[in-house]
Amino acid sequence: MKERLTRWFGGLAAGLIVLDLFFLWRAPAEIQAPRPISRLHGPRVIMCVCDGLRADLVGRVAMPTLATLARQGTSTFTARSETPTLTMPNMVSLLTGRPPFGHGIIDNDAPSFEIAFPTIFDAARQAGLTTALYTGKEKLRALAPLGQVDRVVVMQVADSTPLVDQLVHDLGEPSTQYDLAFVHLPDADAAGHASGWMSLAYLEAAARLDREINRIVHAVREAGLSPRTALIITADHGGIEHHHYRAVPEVYLVPWIAVGAGIPKGRTIPRPVSLHDTAPTVLRLLQVPIPPTMTGISVEGLPDADDRG
Ligand SMILES: [Zn+2]
Repeated sequence: MKERLTRWFGGLAAGLIVLDLFFLWRAPAEIQAPRPISRLHGPRVIMCVCDGLRADLVGRVAMPTLATLARQGTSTFTARSETPTLTMPNMVSLLTGRPPFGHGIIDNDAPSFEIAFPTIFDAARQAGLTTALYTGKEKLRALAPLGQVDRVVVMQVADSTPLVDQLVHDLGEPSTQYDLAFVHLPDADAAGHASGWMSLAYLEAAARLDREINRIVHAVREAGLSPRTALIITADHGGIEHHHYRAVPEVYLVPWIAVGAGIPKGRTIPRPVSLHDTAPTVLRLLQVPIPPTMTGISVEGLPDADDRG
């Protein structure tokens, strides 16, 4: 009973956070200039970062959606998490296109910090695109300071279902279909810390994650956005036992899959990809200028938006 009540209150709190942010964000959204009409038909990117998802899961464990998306797109299962292999430094690398020693965010639990380099949100917005962050960890709110991202949905959950519910709902409405959506899915990391990486609970969380990503793919299709949406799926780090700080392949190897509009099918990326290569890749797909501070190298072989016809 106590557990049920706790869960109920947890759900209520998560709901209130979304509601709270909805009201916080309504004001800037209302005064924001309308999106340039050309971008209404331009390319879109949805990035799904699966917290703590090991690269060797896909294939070994039933993750049919990820396995299919990898076949339908361009992928590698030997992408590298940045050092330190912790969530916050890697999230900032994914956003800034710089490794942690290059952006300075090394601490995983800093109470507050400022990102000193332009992010993919900044670059996209400067080009007139709309941006959104959906995250299942409260502390990742720091990735989108007030006023810098059009839509922020923050929950503190171990099961990303309500977060994906919100994303799927937003994808169904033209006014909440963002050009760039960065989605953080906490399931695998939460189960890994609680029960161990590759434990039954971890494998169940991975299977759920796979179903949630399938729901996102379907929502994109139902909204008619498939012809111009690219999906990038990766992870911030893997894990072993109950942690992810040791420099072993189980921890530092992560999946990296790009699939969708115009992306070559069935191609394996022939070079080592680091997570900080993701930001320039995303901007290139969005046809947005890449800030010179981004030291990552855009994954070659993916089309510029121009090529999509
Ligand atoms: Zn963790």
